[in-house]
Amino acid sequence: MSLTDLYGRKIKYLRLSVTDLCNLRCIYCMPENGVCKKSHSEILSIEELTDIAEAAYNLGIKKIRLTGGEPLVRKGILTLCRNIRDIADDIELSLTTNGAMLSEMAKPLKDSGVNRLNISIDSFRAETYRVITRVGNLSNALSGTEAAIQAGFDNIKINTVLMNGFNDCEIDDMIAFTKDNAVQLRFIELMPLGEAKKLCHSCYQSVSEIEQYLRENAQMTVDGVARVYRLPSHKGSIGLISPMSHGFCPTCDKIRVTCDGKLKPCLHSKEEIDLRNLSGDQLKAAIAAGVTQKPLHHHLASGGTDTSRGMNEIGG
Ligand code: SAM
Ligand code: SF4
Repeated sequence: MSLTDLYGRKIKYLRLSVTDLCNLRCIYCMPENGVCKKSHSEILSIEELTDIAEAAYNLGIKKIRLTGGEPLVRKGILTLCRNIRDIADDIELSLTTNGAMLSEMAKPLKDSGVNRLNISIDSFRAETYRVITRVGNLSNALSGTEAAIQAGFDNIKINTVLMNGFNDCEIDDMIAFTKDNAVQLRFIELMPLGEAKKLCHSCYQSVSEIEQYLRENAQMTVDGVARVYRLPSHKGSIGLISPMSHGFCPTCDKIRVTCDGKLKPCLHSKEEIDLRNLSGDQLKAAIAAGVTQKPLHHHLASGGTDTSRGMNEIGG
């Protein structure tokens, strides 16, 4: 069984947001004072999240990513990981985290069946990291990354949102970081949704200049939405994700579910399909119907995002 949208794109990847809460307050994602905590009944329970993962798997989706908010602050996250692993061995289960809690959580996540981690670190300078995250400590993210390596995670990806005036002066250092560290460091273009709308006009920076340098010095391969370059003698690689300057909609294979149970066929569109109170064949039918609402492309270049949700609700 496989899911195909109206434009022939095969849908193979589910991003499941398990909470909209976070222990950090990144300036482009969370309001300074955080968001109001939803009541228990407003967010998907661990059982509902498991049912959605199972229905998606039965529709042919083998790649599931847990995200948020910060997924590691969600109570029951390890149970959810084990439940998803119990659905099938061939699910590629990954998680995106800010890394702040990985020192304690990396080994339990590995033992609960998580295959891969993406860790978001926007600066390798302690002061800049604090300014971007408002409350975070770089040392926690770095020790969390080390704990993930020690726990046996390989192919770790470091997500870095490129921002003019914040971390653009670190590009060379970040590229140099991949010389001795076997990670994929991914530069991501800032997208104008939620809190980031206020920042984009002054902070948005395209990855094109980085790409020009890399093209002259390395071979490119494609990994999902990223163009990946490995410089000679570097243990790690550099990934470029450019939703703004090079749209990747033609190859988009994703659907997303928010922590309050809405399927989003596209990150940037306002269409949402309610998955709550559904199970079995009804749940599968709702997911399949949602896929048919996936638009051909987003409208970022011509006026911005159509969704009113913030990234902390959708999960990236
Ligand atoms: N809290 C986790 C973390 O930070 O990795 C998971 C959720 S976070 C919303 C997922 C990813 O989205 C992070 O890598 C974050 O940097 C990225 N992100 C958030 N807002 C963004 C924006 N406006 N444009 C581009 N990336 C964004
Ligand atoms: Fe939290 Fe991740 Fe958003 Fe930063 S990007 S505020 S770590 S959810």
